[in-house]
Amino acid sequence: MKHIIRIFKFGSSLWRYYIGVGVFTILMAAMSQLQPLFTKGAIDQITKLLSGGKADIDLVALYAVLIFVTDVGQTLMSNIGGYLGDMVAVKLQRLMSQRYYEHLLTLPQAYFDSELTGKIINRMNRGINQITDFIQMVSNNFLQFIFSTIFTLIIVAIYAWPVALMLLSLYPIFIGFTIKTSGKWQSYQKKINEQLDIASGRFAESIGQIKVVKSFLREASELKYFNKRFETVVKTTRPQSRFWHKQDVLRRLVLNVIFLLVFVYIFVETAHGLYSLGTMVMLIQYAMLIRIPIFSISFVVDQAQRAVANTKDYFDAMDVRPDLTDDKNAKKLIIQSASIEFKNVVFHYPGSPLVLKQISFSLEPGMKAALVGESGQGKTTITSLILHLYAIKNGEILIDGQNINKVTQESLRESIAVVFQEPYLFSGTIRENISYGSAQATDRAIISAAKSANAHEFISKFKKGYDTEIGERGLRLSGGQKQRIAIARAILKDAPILILDEATSSLDTKSERKVQQALSRLMKGRTTLIIAHRLSTIASVDRIITIDGGIVQEIGTPEELENSGGIYAKLLNFQKIHTTAGEKRLKKYEIEAI
Ligand code: ADP
Ligand code: MG
Repeated sequence: MKHIIRIFKFGSSLWRYYIGVGVFTILMAAMSQLQPLFTKGAIDQITKLLSGGKADIDLVALYAVLIFVTDVGQTLMSNIGGYLGDMVAVKLQRLMSQRYYEHLLTLPQAYFDSELTGKIINRMNRGINQITDFIQMVSNNFLQFIFSTIFTLIIVAIYAWPVALMLLSLYPIFIGFTIKTSGKWQSYQKKINEQLDIASGRFAESIGQIKVVKSFLREASELKYFNKRFETVVKTTRPQSRFWHKQDVLRRLVLNVIFLLVFVYIFVETAHGLYSLGTMVMLIQYAMLIRIPIFSISFVVDQAQRAVANTKDYFDAMDVRPDLTDDKNAKKLIIQSASIEFKNVVFHYPGSPLVLKQISFSLEPGMKAALVGESGQGKTTITSLILHLYAIKNGEILIDGQNINKVTQESLRESIAVVFQEPYLFSGTIRENISYGSAQATDRAIISAAKSANAHEFISKFKKGYDTEIGERGLRLSGGQKQRIAIARAILKDAPILILDEATSSLDTKSERKVQQALSRLMKGRTTLIIAHRLSTIASVDRIITIDGGIVQEIGTPEELENSGGIYAKLLNFQKIHTTAGEKRLKKYEIEAI
């Protein structure tokens, strides 16, 4: 029940529409409820006439006209109500999608590390469709149900109270039956939804990395994996649907039996002369009419159960609290010179062993520093921590002496530009992608950034220049071109701190040189932390920080560490060996021997 209330609360800002829909459905119901009275009037006049009495033919015709008028009225009301219903549905859809997106965007990186994109999307769609359907269905049926039930039962009771009682008894029986089926139906549905989420999660993954799928010839196995989920869905739906329909047969049988009693009673008592022919036809019509609210109430109950089952994952996602929110007293980060300091930083990912046991180092303003360590030692992790994408367990990270836990995340991230190892781009034009670094950038600024990034030249060669569409994730550009756009984006951001995860993908020497040149321009005057993948880059920095086993092994200039026997010295030796064995050892450090 709590769940249902929550669903209603979600759409509560649209209450005017619900009332509108409700009013029209009631008007519609009222018109259909009047028709049996008109029929009765007409039949009673005609029977009088046929049995030799005096009757008003005009009145009979008037009843026919009244039936016509209420028919037309119903048509109009149902269409106006339908229009309002469509508007409610689409507004609700907008509201729910927005809130979901808005909420997801506040969630910490850790949430996205463990959830598949496709699953996240599927949950949203299912939740939204279900809630929209449900609320629309309730506003279409619920008021009408209450109105029709009360109206019909009162009129029937006036003419034949035993019939009213029999019809009344249908409600608890029908609703009871429906509720009884609920638990079992939902447990089936939970299993179905799990499988659907897995299927669409994998679907999005394999389409997103279609190159991998194709190059490893895994189309068939991906399809098989997908089909298997749907096989389970089919297998689960079979008993679920059988169960539901068996229950439905039962409850309808009960309904049929009670109707048998109702008809027997009406026919026999009319034959005994208790009711006029007109009254008999009217009672029959009301008995038929009352089936609609009975069915619709069990439909409402049924849909409510579906809504609970199908919105569970949506609400679960909405309930994930962003555990990495700004401190109440968080201030804006004030950058003076952009020094960075790690003080005894301890960190592990949620539910995983320690990655960083004790990391301490400091970078003076404008300094270029390289992080060096074997793959998996926590280099990327350190950069994520500077961005405050995760909370550290112990220690402090300071920027210009300010603890990053105590400043707003917005002001922190404003001060840091990142060039990722993989240049993630968006679908859209080159211009849009570069201006992702600064939304208000002028065309001149964009072009100047592209020039510094050595990208202007190749962009100008495209027929549409900066308006060239680059496809999702920049698939229509080469590796080096993508990197230079990502660099232009970072240049445009113009932040005092730069995090650089050097690309490992080897480019041809010409684009390599262009990328390196662009990077050195970008680094100028900024405090830079590089995860270097080339010995040449490492040799050119002001400080090398080597990491091993979760702690800092050494810190020093390249010259200082050249012969210290530490990791950097080892790397230089591996390079000197010039053998595949040496290269292999370098690879362990994600380093290319150039
Ligand atoms: P590096 O960049 O030095 O190769 P990373 O910082 O990426 O290393 O990873 C350090 C360690 O943390 C690795 O053991 C890795 O398995 C683990 N790790 C990385 N990302 C996550 C994550 N999102 N959740 C749990 N563990 C992670
Ligand atoms: Mg890494």
